[in-house]
Amino acid sequence: MTKSSPPAAPTVGFVSLGCPKNLVDSEVMMGLLDRAGARLTAHPEEAEILVVNTCSFIDTAKQESVDTILEMARHKTAGRARKLIVAGCLVERYRDEIQKNIPEVDAVVGTGELEAILEAAGLTPTPAPAAPSPFNILSSVHAETRPGKESQAGTHKSSAKGTGFSPYVKQQDLNGALAPEASQPTSRPEGDHRERAGRFRRDEWQGASHLLPTYLYDETTPRLLSTPRASAYIKIAEGCDHPCSFCVIPNLRGKFRSRRFESVVTEAEALVANGVREITLIGQDTTCYGEDLGLKDGLAALLDRIARIPNLRWLRFLYAYPNRITGKLLETIARHDNICKYLDLPLQHASPDVLKRMKRGAGAEIFLKTLHKVRAAVPNIALRTSFIVGFPGESLRDVEILEEFIAEAKFDWLGVFNYSHEEGSAAYALDGQVPKRSIESRRKRLMKLQQSISRRAKQNWVGRELTVLAEGESAETPLLWEGRTQYHAPEIDGKVYINDFGALENLEAGRFYRAEITEAHDYDVVARILAPENEQP
Ligand code: SF4
Repeated sequence: MTKSSPPAAPTVGFVSLGCPKNLVDSEVMMGLLDRAGARLTAHPEEAEILVVNTCSFIDTAKQESVDTILEMARHKTAGRARKLIVAGCLVERYRDEIQKNIPEVDAVVGTGELEAILEAAGLTPTPAPAAPSPFNILSSVHAETRPGKESQAGTHKSSAKGTGFSPYVKQQDLNGALAPEASQPTSRPEGDHRERAGRFRRDEWQGASHLLPTYLYDETTPRLLSTPRASAYIKIAEGCDHPCSFCVIPNLRGKFRSRRFESVVTEAEALVANGVREITLIGQDTTCYGEDLGLKDGLAALLDRIARIPNLRWLRFLYAYPNRITGKLLETIARHDNICKYLDLPLQHASPDVLKRMKRGAGAEIFLKTLHKVRAAVPNIALRTSFIVGFPGESLRDVEILEEFIAEAKFDWLGVFNYSHEEGSAAYALDGQVPKRSIESRRKRLMKLQQSISRRAKQNWVGRELTVLAEGESAETPLLWEGRTQYHAPEIDGKVYINDFGALENLEAGRFYRAEITEAHDYDVVARILAPENEQP
């Protein structure tokens, strides 16, 4: 009798769309697949199993998700792929519809069931090895298509070209002394109250499950990092309890819940021990971090703890809710040299009337006081925000108020979204729709103003000596390298183009250099390298 050999490991291709939070979900799913024996490939035409991790935040993101699914489906009908799996936010919204309308799709995996990727791929979960096995380069495949630089016109990163096809770095099986978090979902009284008030209802979404996601990964979950080796995201919380009337993210992602403090710290330590030098903490609203765990000023405490990890050069967080920026948080940012002087606080609008209808409150006057407080506490901090134009009922006077606010606030980075009318959002029922053409012309008007503000501000950078993280050859021309300063978040803000290596023959991607800014453009600047920086912070 011959012993049958085990089936060969399937080859999996992964496309990750949407925001960094979705990217972390992709990295977790890739980690699970890798640990179960799958082989990840950067080439969809080589894959036997294709996974598309989708976004459905707004209309354009949904369209991009559907287009990508259809593109991947072609590899199934006329290529090597035998299975197509759709994961992510689109599944939370159109679970039944996806398989009904796109028969090539074999399985769907929602944001709250990442571990189901294994069953969907026909793999058996593999228990974590007893000994820690930190990072290994799994593949030296370089990104053929890096995620597109986000335009100044929006803060929501979305790229059908795939964030999953970068060099993968494996983070797995860190010593899990702590119980898995997935079994202990937490919630805040605010979230429970909002749930009773109907905030998270999906009744109007035909084909969606009524169950809200509760999943949270932890430090024992395998992850396959797809960001450049020196930088990594850590998701510190999931979901959102805020009532913003234009937003369906809470319906897609569930109630706000924080990862345990020690779990985040353990993950950060493991990342740094394995070469990561820049950590970006992410969540829908990081400033609520720890409230469900009974922590006061939880984000400040977490930043303070992680900033003490030796060799961590840059630490930042995205995103801040404006009325939750405490003195303690600012004091923590100011105190640590390795916490980036950078704050992204999406304000959404400046007209009190619009903000009231958005169920966010406040207005230009209050925001200016907040910005003053931030700048006084953290000199030279770079501020980013995003706005929505064309919200139902937005008048020309509202746009003027926003314009005056932008002119006065002088943000370093700014994005403007066109309002997207989303079924399931509270704003869906509002009258006073603004025609699409008017929305677009309002957006252009605001971006033109920001362009002139940014151009003047960037001129002031010329002559400054700054630390630059070299990221690699420019996607636009091999004659230039690209990099970032602490004032640029990954993949979001303008670029530093490096056209002069100084005395160096070559630069190393993922290394920090002292550089002088020599030229400024509307959003980008040009730099010349002075010298490599010491590895120690
Ligand atoms: S804070 Fe508001 S806009 Fe942001 S995710 Fe929560 S509900 Fe949406």
